[in-house]
Amino acid sequence: MPDVQQLKNLSSRRHSSTPRMSMEITFLGTGSAYPSPTRGASALVLRRDGECWLFDCGEGTQTQLMRSHLRAGRITKIFITHLHGDHFFGLPGLLCTISLQSSPDPNKPPVDIYGPLGLRSFLWRSLELSHSQLLFPYAVHELVPTRDQCPAEEFRDFSHLDRGEVPPQGPGGRILRLDPGEGSYLLEEDEQLVLRAFRLFHRVPSFGFVLEEKPRPGRLNVQKLKDLGVQPGPLYGKLKGGAAVVLENGVRISPSEVLEEPIPGRKVCILGDCSGAPGDEAPRLCRDADLLVHEATLDDTQQEKAREHGHSTPGMASGFARLCRARRLVLTHFSQRYKPAGQAGEGDADVAELRRQAESVLGGQEVTLAEDFMTIEIPMKKGKTAALASPE
Ligand SMILES: [Zn+2]
Ligand SMILES: [Zn+2]
Repeated sequence: MPDVQQLKNLSSRRHSSTPRMSMEITFLGTGSAYPSPTRGASALVLRRDGECWLFDCGEGTQTQLMRSHLRAGRITKIFITHLHGDHFFGLPGLLCTISLQSSPDPNKPPVDIYGPLGLRSFLWRSLELSHSQLLFPYAVHELVPTRDQCPAEEFRDFSHLDRGEVPPQGPGGRILRLDPGEGSYLLEEDEQLVLRAFRLFHRVPSFGFVLEEKPRPGRLNVQKLKDLGVQPGPLYGKLKGGAAVVLENGVRISPSEVLEEPIPGRKVCILGDCSGAPGDEAPRLCRDADLLVHEATLDDTQQEKAREHGHSTPGMASGFARLCRARRLVLTHFSQRYKPAGQAGEGDADVAELRRQAESVLGGQEVTLAEDFMTIEIPMKKGKTAALASPE
């Protein structure tokens, strides 16, 4: 006999955590190169079910966090797209401030930090040289880039930085290599979601991140269950959980007989600086993204200059969004010349022009221009969520 209490626990956990899972992103810095009073350096927070994941941490990110509705202490994972200063110079300072605000807790799980090879050494040295001791553990999981992610003359091999220099008691973490079959780096996977990184082309190796929720089971067909003679109770939970059940009369019922179509999860893609991507995996991995965050540093008339610096224009970003059939495109990482709407002074470039250029490629599909402190919600997919939460 299955443990009824166990099934109830499983089933109630599913109910409480699955149907109302909120997801939103908040931009903390939307400018390129350096922070300015109108646009911070690159940083955004993805909040899912109360947990905060930080993507990039340019200089000044901690003060941007303080000005937002988010709390730095809630950050459990950090992702760094590439090792240009405007994307990670804020990291040691932010970690120190989080530490100041926390109390020692030996059971606290480490803050997971993902980023290109070299990041562990940078962080360890910054904290060591400044005599900074964090009150919480952290782990740096390094992505090993491939040589085709930047111009040949810009490639630096940082694989030696760690050898013998970061002591055993220093930060832990994995070394993650490209899975050639998948064309991606598997960062994490659990029952609910899978997190991957993929390669981008920039002046230095850059990465994009894909967060994909797994499909949730469809609702139970209650009428069919009644017809089959299944009484409401623990068996419902077991079927919902994906396990077959055998009735007292010996009839075996598999979940596929009584569950409706699975409800697809959400997919969010956050790309670092880029003017393209090696291989063909980027559009494949970002296919049907519910939200695609892409840089657009300069406008379409400066495409040549943008490419030279490894950056994109609105037209290039939209071309990528169209290729992967993204449902919503958000542009960010604007040259500091482009002041946010309503804050442009005389002689400033008009940021709205970037939207016009992007939308013209997407045949009128609406494109969002990110601004500091803008929050965008990514709603659950429409489906049969109400029934999942119904009493058994
Ligand atoms: Zn940048
Ligand atoms: Zn860059």
